Amino acid sequence: MRPEEERFGMAPNRSLSEEIETDYLVIGAGATGMAFVDTLLRHSGCDIVLLDRRHAPGGHWLDAYPFVRLHQPSAIYGVESMPLGRDMIEAEGWNAGYYERASAAEICAYYERVLLERMLPTGRVRFLSLHDHRGTEDGAELALSRPTGRTCRIRARRAVVDARYLEAAIPAHRPPPFEVAPGMRVIPPNALPGINGAPSGYTVIGAGKTAMDTVLWLLDHGVAPGCIRWIRPRDAWLSDRSCLQALGLAPRAIACAARSTEAVAQARDMDDLFRRLQAAGLFAALDPEVTPGTYRGALTSRAERDQMRRVTQVVRAGYVTAVTPARIEMQDGSVPTGPAHLHIDCTAGALTRRPTRPVFEEGRITVQCLWFGLTCFNAAITAYVEATRAELAEKNRLCPPCMLPSAARDWVTVRLNAMLAESEWKGEPDIGAFTRASRLNILRGLEAYADDPQLTTSMATLARHSQPARANLRRLAETA
Ligand SMILES: Cc1cc2nc3c(=O)[nH]c(=O)nc-3n(C[C@H](O)[C@H](O)[C@H](O)COP(=O)(O)OP(=O)(O)OC[C@H]3O[C@@H](n4cnc5c(N)ncnc54)[C@H](O)[C@@H]3O)c2cc1C
Repeated sequence: MRPEEERFGMAPNRSLSEEIETDYLVIGAGATGMAFVDTLLRHSGCDIVLLDRRHAPGGHWLDAYPFVRLHQPSAIYGVESMPLGRDMIEAEGWNAGYYERASAAEICAYYERVLLERMLPTGRVRFLSLHDHRGTEDGAELALSRPTGRTCRIRARRAVVDARYLEAAIPAHRPPPFEVAPGMRVIPPNALPGINGAPSGYTVIGAGKTAMDTVLWLLDHGVAPGCIRWIRPRDAWLSDRSCLQALGLAPRAIACAARSTEAVAQARDMDDLFRRLQAAGLFAALDPEVTPGTYRGALTSRAERDQMRRVTQVVRAGYVTAVTPARIEMQDGSVPTGPAHLHIDCTAGALTRRPTRPVFEEGRITVQCLWFGLTCFNAAITAYVEATRAELAEKNRLCPPCMLPSAARDWVTVRLNAMLAESEWKGEPDIGAFTRASRLNILRGLEAYADDPQLTTSMATLARHSQPARANLRRLAETA
């Protein structure tokens, strides 16, 4: 085994050096930073310093609960230069019929290979692991080595790239955001596979993807639905996984996009919009009696939703405020509990909502969401635009950012933004070629299915309804 410094391209005691100069300093080696660096390397001759306070690339996946998987296909996740997974359609399980989804372990191993096999061999990337970015001093960026306590000063000739602006929030990183009485068992999902002995029951706290994964994991491991209680303060609209598929299943995904675009064009108001999107098969609600109020982009299959619906003890009484020895207190009520009961805190938001700012500023790039749901593709296209354009105004026109969604109505804004970005890209032949070829793009390789009658019909529907849909989205956004 090679020493850590050599494996990660660091000269021994790199952090001792007073100053490093580079073209780009990229802060954050998560999915965003890795996709950005990979594409920038391919389309420019620049030198890059990539730093992260974690020990390896991969971002939040390094600390994720062990049973997490991508909720979208691996086929469109990661970096452009290296495939993730084998583009297999799963034959069994609750994802049967859809493209495979990598586990956290696979994703972390993948990013390490990208670093070792694609980035470092270029001789143009230095990776500073375990370095915490601590701000700017006299025009230099300060990076504190966590193991040595020494500070390294980095000067970026072209830009400092903030690839942690949308850093993911995960439960394992912070204590529960509610009071926990001594002796009460409240664990993050990371600790779930380590439990010994059956508790008197399980309470899953949270309504997001982490909570859904936890419920599914418990069911998959034989826990009876009656032993699971689910505290779901706000139900979320769930996107159907068939609508975000690539390659051989892309015609089916485009059919969903066509139905949804038609629905958008015809929607009278927000309620009508979500009814229509549900009828179009894009959205589903876990409980048919409860209209969801949030949208965070979670993708689920029908089989997963059917499983989750087996849990019928759903508590909707607002956010948990305390777990006391006898009761779980919520904003609008309480339910009984006890020390023999296991509470799983799945309340971290995962998506960090921060105000948008221009992606490109003098000496600074802030990688953000352009097309919601395609995190890696957004970072790659931002890098491509940086490598191929000089003017700030032009670069910003091609990369219009949007805030990540939270309320259901935010779907309108993120969809509108994706349509805006797409129409800007369409006017640029080289970007068209880039997006068509990119493995991170859901539409990659669509030409291969040009003779598919379903695709031809869908494309015609899309062409007919795209403009009216965009106009209607604008109207809905203004009235929301
Ligand atoms: C459980 C879970 C499942 C998800 N599943 C999917 C999915 O299936 N598909 C999808 O598209 N998205 C998914 N997401 C969303 C996810 O946020 C993105 O896919 C992506 O991983 C985010 O990458 P990132 O690089 O923006 O953030 P992160 O992974 O959080 O990486 C940011 C990096 O910046 C580093 N950093 C932050 N501050 C500093 C500093 N001061 N100095 C040095 N380094 C710093 C951090 O250490 C971290 O490594 C999921 C999120 C979660 C939490």
